[in-house]
Amino acid sequence: MSEPSPHWSAEEFRQHAHRVVDWIADYWEGVDERPVLAQVEPGEVAAALDVTIPDEPEPVEAVLADLDTHLLPGLTHWQHPRFFAYFPANSSPPAVLGDLLSSGLGVQGMVWATSPAATELEQLVLDELARALGLGEAFCHRRTDGQPATGGGVISDTASTATFTAVLAALHRASGGTVRTAGTAGTDYVLYGSTQAHSSLQKAAMMAGLGEDALHLVAVDPWTQAMDVAALRRAVEADRAAGRTPFFLQAALGTTGTGAVDDVPALAAVAREHGLWVHVDAAWAGVAALLPEHADVNTGVAEHADSYVTNPHKWLLTTFDCSTSWVRDRAALIGALSVLPEYLRNPASESGAVVDYRDWHPQLGRRFRALKLWTVLRCYGRSGLQAHLRSGIAGAARVAELVEADPRFALAAPPSLGLATFRLVADTGGRPLPDDHAEQATRELMTVLNTSGVAYLSHGQTDGRTYLRWAVGGWRTRLADVEHTWQVLSDVAASVLDGG
Ligand SMILES: *Cc1c(COP(=O)(O)O)cnc(C)c1O
Repeated sequence: MSEPSPHWSAEEFRQHAHRVVDWIADYWEGVDERPVLAQVEPGEVAAALDVTIPDEPEPVEAVLADLDTHLLPGLTHWQHPRFFAYFPANSSPPAVLGDLLSSGLGVQGMVWATSPAATELEQLVLDELARALGLGEAFCHRRTDGQPATGGGVISDTASTATFTAVLAALHRASGGTVRTAGTAGTDYVLYGSTQAHSSLQKAAMMAGLGEDALHLVAVDPWTQAMDVAALRRAVEADRAAGRTPFFLQAALGTTGTGAVDDVPALAAVAREHGLWVHVDAAWAGVAALLPEHADVNTGVAEHADSYVTNPHKWLLTTFDCSTSWVRDRAALIGALSVLPEYLRNPASESGAVVDYRDWHPQLGRRFRALKLWTVLRCYGRSGLQAHLRSGIAGAARVAELVEADPRFALAAPPSLGLATFRLVADTGGRPLPDDHAEQATRELMTVLNTSGVAYLSHGQTDGRTYLRWAVGGWRTRLADVEHTWQVLSDVAASVLDGG
């Protein structure tokens, strides 16, 4: 009766899966003992691995053995409690299980009809998150204020994609729909972001066919690093006078470098005068609005933003990838992106009663990511999410306190939520270092600390001067990890300053 099958039976899957889950739990338990930053030279991993496709099936244990022996030493451990570089990319236990369920179901939610519950759960979860973050009813699929729904949220792979689609929607609006048929040639479109804007904005301009020169970077305040509103106004007016067509402003709530927060209401006032689309990039910081004491993080979004993005795959415990974004006017987005090949025609789409997410981003096929995010929101609950966010903020506040209490160091910008930035500025006796010496000592401090494997910090620059970024917010990080890292960093600083 049963024909030979190359596939595992349900029973085999169950056994192998239990082994893999055990492997992950052991990895998490033991990751503290590993160096945070990968300790390999270029090509070292490739030289040791044999990836020949075997003629006959191998057991999953063979994969785990190579993972242990050859791959783990070549990984930087993002779930390590002393990973303080970039921003956290949390992969929490509930997120891993939600992701696994999504993989097991393996549904494609490209249009409503290909898996209705996938689309409808995504709409519900994004509405709930929009309300929890204070974005307002205008961004919800199902409004509770009696108004007809004109906006809505969508899950994409990354904030880069969400920003790119926002640029396309804004171009569609600014051109009166003509970019669809005629492209952008003949109009000199301009986008604005601050000098601290994430590089994905430049990429979006390039991918939209506008060229990197279409991006006009606006100066920031030297201390807060927030966009200079008067400078934006001057830039837009000068560009218009030169015959260019300003159409898009990106404001940042929490820049990647120092966590700077732009003044959205003030910037939006300029944008409105000149008809610019207002996109708010809150990729890292936006989720902090789940805390009542930080509800002001998203100030101005409900009133002024045309689009908004934040990444649950950073601070909010949801395994990469999961970027959530919202638009106020979905007609602009769909107008820019919809195409309808015959094979996707179906009665539900034609009735106009459903959302077809394939029109909300560049790709067609899409994972059931809402299941992962929903699992996280439910299994942590508001209290768990808030406790996690608060511990990151407390950790960064402790870093800032230690920096300010040590005369060798100075903050590079105001501490922002879970991020502190600082540099070496004085010798062990507290005497100011010449700029070039401070620069070299700060860089050496970072290199020595990171190669020690104890912790991992990243860096940035303002006005050509390097600073170190210490981002707290990993799900395995405890205050003791912050204290221990500071101790080691302080000792390394002493030896760097002594020329040792
Ligand atoms: C991380 C980050 C991005 C890019 O996020 P991806 O999801 O990796 O594309 C954009 N903007 C800000 C402010 C960020 O911190």
